[in-house]
Amino acid sequence: MTVTASGLLPRTVYDVAIVGAGVVGCAIARRLARHADLRIALIEAQDDVGQGTSKANTAILHTGFDAIPGSLEARLVREGARQLALYAAESGIPVEPVGALLVAWDEAQLAVLPSLAEKAERNAYPDARELGTTELYAREPHLGPGALGALHIPGESIICPWTTTLAYATQAVRHGVDLHLNSRVEKASREDGVHRLGTTRGPLRARRLVNAAGLHADTLDRQLGHDDFTVTPRRGQLLVFDKFARALVRHILLPVPTALGKGVLVAPTVYGNVLLGPTAEDLHDKHDTGSTADALAGLREQGRRILPELLDEEVTAVYAGLRAATEHEDYRIVAHPEQATVTVGGIRSTGLTASLAIADHVTALLADTGLELTPPRDLTPIHMPNLGEAFPRPCQRPELIAEDPEYGTLVCHCERVSRGEIRDALTSTIPPHTVDGLRRRTRARSGRCQGFHCGAAVRALFEGVRG
Ligand SMILES: Cc1cc2nc3c(=O)[nH]c(=O)nc-3n(C[C@H](O)[C@H](O)[C@H](O)COP(=O)(O)OP(=O)(O)OC[C@H]3O[C@@H](n4cnc5c(N)ncnc54)[C@H](O)[C@@H]3O)c2cc1C
Repeated sequence: MTVTASGLLPRTVYDVAIVGAGVVGCAIARRLARHADLRIALIEAQDDVGQGTSKANTAILHTGFDAIPGSLEARLVREGARQLALYAAESGIPVEPVGALLVAWDEAQLAVLPSLAEKAERNAYPDARELGTTELYAREPHLGPGALGALHIPGESIICPWTTTLAYATQAVRHGVDLHLNSRVEKASREDGVHRLGTTRGPLRARRLVNAAGLHADTLDRQLGHDDFTVTPRRGQLLVFDKFARALVRHILLPVPTALGKGVLVAPTVYGNVLLGPTAEDLHDKHDTGSTADALAGLREQGRRILPELLDEEVTAVYAGLRAATEHEDYRIVAHPEQATVTVGGIRSTGLTASLAIADHVTALLADTGLELTPPRDLTPIHMPNLGEAFPRPCQRPELIAEDPEYGTLVCHCERVSRGEIRDALTSTIPPHTVDGLRRRTRARSGRCQGFHCGAAVRALFEGVRG
């Protein structure tokens, strides 16, 4: 098992190098790891997997009911959702099939609902059903007044995005993938049929290249001599409400979508919070994940109409993610067989859901570039620590505490995180390099006190194990 974060990269000529360890790159690495004879490198600029767009989204496992029928995205979201639901059940990734309600707030929106149901059918999702106001308010008693009806999409779920990316990466590494962190690819050239990548940790060579660099996929694509798409970061800001708000909402409450995106929603999270957002702002800066007072005030205004009582609850955090939007309406997943590369670009608002199907698609494209694939093996299943509120945490399992009392000693009381879970994360296959990375693996410091009480203890444990 190889995970490196410093020093020069190995001199190995890899069969495949994947640039970008977001949910998409990690899914591709895991899929390729099924071919036992391949030497695979997963190269990431940052100090952890899933540090880009994959760590800051709305965490919905979409059905793809509203995708553009016939598009690549529609197919991969549909297939990916099915695969990820099965994978999550096998791997212990928390998922709650809460369903969504697409709420119409005026006559024009109400008039659109039948066409959205028909679109869902064209996307092979036949279960969307229109609801009148009586059933709508019975399902969502705290919904603001004035809703005229809704489309019920029972298949929409909420999921933990952090555990998903980490599960893919862990399983890939356990099956032989070399994960190289802190390795930003700055140059790419090809000589004698071998890609030579200039990275911040020295050169790396590979016969085939997969560009899964998310927001920066267009830059790498240009370095490879293409001019296929330009990424415009589309920022989505969100508010996270305290767990006391969870009882206010049962479904994902969606607006009727517009050309700019899926719009502002109210959704429960698997951690027991409630999200309000995201915004959709086209920016120039691919690093601008800041939150702004105006946007947050705008979200609160929209939230007040959807779920008025939500605004009485405490906000425990705000965050923003950047969608890799392009000038194209569909994903830009393009093989260049003459160059032995596959570019995975424009994975905007649905990449978490589609990740496993994208990985299958990219593997098939790599085969088209001449990559010889031996019959795939089954991977040894993985079981991830549970971060979900709807499932028992270690401190709720007496049999576990009897075996190992560290699971009964709480460090983060808001999120009920035990010393045992922190120890396990710090000694795991892909350990965190920062306290924030530890937070994404355990939820320590994510609760209503945001680390005010447990921050010092968590840091001491982190530094103790990290040496
Ligand atoms: C506000 C918001 C809400 C969303 N909601 C949902 C949702 O509910 N459901 C859903 O399915 N999807 C959702 N998405 C979309 C989803 O989050 C993305 O499609 C997905 O995370 C994209 O993953 P990725 O691996 O392509 O990109 P990233 O996660 O950005 O990964 C790319 C990685 O490449 C690395 N990298 C970049 N350049 C280089 C380089 N030169 N060298 C080495 N490494 C490099 C980056 O550091 C990064 O880690 C949402 C997105 C946003 C912003």
